[in-house]
Amino acid sequence: MFKRNDLRYNFKDLDPYIDALTMETHYEKHYKGYTDKFNDAISTVDSLNNMSAEDIMRNISLVPFEKKDAVINNGGGYLNHLLYFDNIIPNGMKPSDDFLNVIENEFESFDNLIAELKLSANKMFGSGWTFLVIENGKLKVINRKNQDSPYLDKLIPILAIDLWEHAYYLNYKNLRAEYIDNFFKIVNWDFVSKKYFENI
Ligand code: MN
Repeated sequence: MFKRNDLRYNFKDLDPYIDALTMETHYEKHYKGYTDKFNDAISTVDSLNNMSAEDIMRNISLVPFEKKDAVINNGGGYLNHLLYFDNIIPNGMKPSDDFLNVIENEFESFDNLIAELKLSANKMFGSGWTFLVIENGKLKVINRKNQDSPYLDKLIPILAIDLWEHAYYLNYKNLRAEYIDNFFKIVNWDFVSKKYFENI
């Protein structure tokens, strides 16, 4: 059984950038829904029993045809939200010095990376995600539609920005760009730094 991660903050702690009701609904309804449906979809597939969720995504061809859509949507939803709720924190946190060096080597500056992430997020049409991923040892900014997991393409996500309306609509209504700007005030770059070095 795959479980949701415990939060290291209370629902109200992200306010005013993300309001308490949005956080609670997102965690208790949406994220729980993906998690339950993912567990349900794989419960009868013995060959997936001992695999990590990441490995199920990396080996999606092993999933029986009639379960594949449910696993892509809900397994992706499970993994994407696992990362999202871990990579935000009240007041934000800075990258480690070691990770900042990597960012400066690959993007010239931290500000350039933020600008690229914002540009990519603002380009997303409809529901989806912007991710910072590791691809062949290099950092890359990508978008994915719906709940498609970067692990489907053998990429390793280390930062996830949820661009579904359920992530911001109560507070921001149609002002998605404002949510995207404010998202960068609550990024736990310390977590992202660790995730990078665990996976590089
Ligand atoms: Mn979401």
